Amino acid sequence: MNERFARSKLAEVCKLLYDRNLTVSAGGNMSLRLNDDEFIITPTGRNKGSLRPDEMVLMNMKGKVLSDGRPSMEKGFHMALFRSNPDTASVIHCHPLYCTALAVRGERIRSALTPEGVILLGDVPMIGYFTPGSKKLADAIAEHSSSKAMLMERHGAITQGGSLEESFNRMEELEFQARLQMLVGDAGELPASEIKKLLKV
Ligand SMILES: [Zn+2]
Repeated sequence: MNERFARSKLAEVCKLLYDRNLTVSAGGNMSLRLNDDEFIITPTGRNKGSLRPDEMVLMNMKGKVLSDGRPSMEKGFHMALFRSNPDTASVIHCHPLYCTALAVRGERIRSALTPEGVILLGDVPMIGYFTPGSKKLADAIAEHSSSKAMLMERHGAITQGGSLEESFNRMEELEFQARLQMLVGDAGELPASEIKKLLKV
């Protein structure tokens, strides 16, 4: 993907995440792959609602910074997911309110409450708590690298996708499911036979 185009797309999605209340203040970090060895990522400490395309930081998969700016301190797990999944084009991490509420309670997302949850998210693991920015956190996330979406205990959520739009859609759906789960209490999930059918869709 062309770097200039990628920078403007990533800025657009950061603004969308912010406007949709999926992330607040400087929280979260988002990345987009350019090719096998390079990606761009949001800079550290900036509000996602006002990031400009030229502020995104270019890096390679070894962790070397190739442009101006300081990358997000969570670059480690973005790289881990890119390296494990050649098909992953984008990683989004943020702190949506309902996802974070479940993550603080240590309660897993029950994605099989609706067909959309099954199709868009699949099984959503809960990553244990590790200090933000630590190698331990990146390693724990790498262990679940085949998941489309994850919750991080007492912290927030992560999605990945084959395009920036796909990882955004998964984050929006994840927050919808978390909110739904809070509203429906102990309502049961779809039957196993139906989940099987949906996974083939
Ligand atoms: Zn975070």
